[in-house]
Amino acid sequence: MSAPAESPNVAASPARALKSHYDALVIGCGMSGLGAAIRLAMSGRSVLVVERHNAPGGLNGYYFKAGRKFDVGLHAMTNYAAPGKKGPLTKIFRQLRIPPEAFDLSPQLSSRISFPGEELRFANGIDLLESEVARAFPKKIDAFRDLVRLVEAHDALDISRPQATPARALVHERLGDPLLAEMILNPLFYYGSALQNDIDLDQFCILFRALYLEGFARPFEGVRRILRVLLDRYKALGGERLMKCGVRRLVADCGHVAAVELDDGRTLTAGSVLSTIGSDETLGLLGMDAPGKTLPRHGYAEHIACMKPLPSELGWKDTIVFFSNTARTDYRVPDGLVDPSSGVVCMPANYDFGTRRMEEGMLRVTVRANHRAWKALSKSEYAEAKKQVAEAMMASALGHLPGGAAALPKNALLFEDTFTPLTVEKFTGHISGSVYGSPVKVRDGRTPCDNLFLCGTDQGFLGIVGAILGGISIANLHVIGPGA
Ligand SMILES: Cc1cc2nc3c(=O)[nH]c(=O)nc-3n(C[C@H](O)[C@H](O)[C@H](O)COP(=O)(O)OP(=O)(O)OC[C@H]3O[C@@H](n4cnc5c(N)ncnc54)[C@H](O)[C@@H]3O)c2cc1C
Repeated sequence: MSAPAESPNVAASPARALKSHYDALVIGCGMSGLGAAIRLAMSGRSVLVVERHNAPGGLNGYYFKAGRKFDVGLHAMTNYAAPGKKGPLTKIFRQLRIPPEAFDLSPQLSSRISFPGEELRFANGIDLLESEVARAFPKKIDAFRDLVRLVEAHDALDISRPQATPARALVHERLGDPLLAEMILNPLFYYGSALQNDIDLDQFCILFRALYLEGFARPFEGVRRILRVLLDRYKALGGERLMKCGVRRLVADCGHVAAVELDDGRTLTAGSVLSTIGSDETLGLLGMDAPGKTLPRHGYAEHIACMKPLPSELGWKDTIVFFSNTARTDYRVPDGLVDPSSGVVCMPANYDFGTRRMEEGMLRVTVRANHRAWKALSKSEYAEAKKQVAEAMMASALGHLPGGAAALPKNALLFEDTFTPLTVEKFTGHISGSVYGSPVKVRDGRTPCDNLFLCGTDQGFLGIVGAILGGISIANLHVIGPGA
């Protein structure tokens, strides 16, 4: 992955003039930072977003390479809500006063969970998955329906609840079939569990809704479209942005952030500071010890293969395939560089784009990776290791697509790129290049300082929709106040 380039509609401004004081300062110009910043600017406050990188988006940014534009994170926007339907996405549009059509979302075709000897297809809404469970696990369909009811009744957004309740054993117990339980859990692990070999019950319910009850969508243009809409909205509200200059230090005095020191040495003050960079990373800015930084964190490697044919022309019609070569997914930091025995294949061309058609096909294969193992490599070993793991990742993933590797014509690949936890660490500053942050979440966003709040990943709100909503809810709860 090379350095993402600046969004075309807003010029980078490393040396721009700043006020000495802002009502609110947001650290990080990713999805949660933009969600928070727009809400704060809508309330009439003066707001500054400070971003260390040269481009917006964070884990959901984009970059240019070999004349192509790539999304960093986007496989799918979860929580799809068809026009007029309620849900988290509709809440974002309402809270940010953005017209739903602005994101230009096209729904997925259908996705698949592929395990040895069994598969389950699902699409937007629960119907297809329910009929697939009835087909493959007829004795367990009532247990599955009970689980759906449990998810629907669970208030997963109650931020007053204490720490993680592991859900894997509970899902096994409720479904009463180990293979069915593992197949239901696998996509939810990969789309947002920060725990080792488990998932927090709230996160399970949030993701079950996001993937199975609601579903996937994507703008034809990719994440650039969503970022452009958010940035334009923020700019129209008078919000300010400082790019290519991070926050170096938060100066605290008696439990209060008294000053914000920037990478270029300038110092500002702010009534409230919202940090989206992670809880331990934020404690680091305060000069405090962060014991959680040594806990194991999930990192991922992703291999992106651009190819001449569209996947549908090869008979590959799924939008996303969640795969496991074993009946139980070993969802933990692997011992080696990567563990390609389970993961995700995304085919961004396989959405219902109507008459629009992508010029090239693309496969994105994502598997778990070990940050420490990558870090131990020399520069030349790193380049060679990327090639080797890419081959292993592709071989494992292609085994779950119709016709396997043989279906991919020789010379079909036009360009390939691989990124690792080191890439994520370099471009976002997340400890161990982790995508889902610390296993210990701070649900209410509170920190040791009374005017400093966390939002996004380490508050437990993940993905594009989760992160934007996390930013909005923390801005509402701690800064804007009741009635927001
Ligand atoms: C490979 C991959 C695939 C993914 N797939 C999907 C998907 O299909 N669908 C989906 O919804 N989500 C997906 N995600 C997850 C999603 O991207 C994240 O959950 C979400 O974008 C997190 O947003 P955030 O704003 O909380 O954090 P971040 O995006 O991490 O934003 C934090 C920002 O803070 C900046 N920063 C760090 N330190 C400082 C500092 N000291 N000063 C100033 N700025 C700083 C960083 O540069 C970054 O821009 C994926 C992520 C990856 C990496």
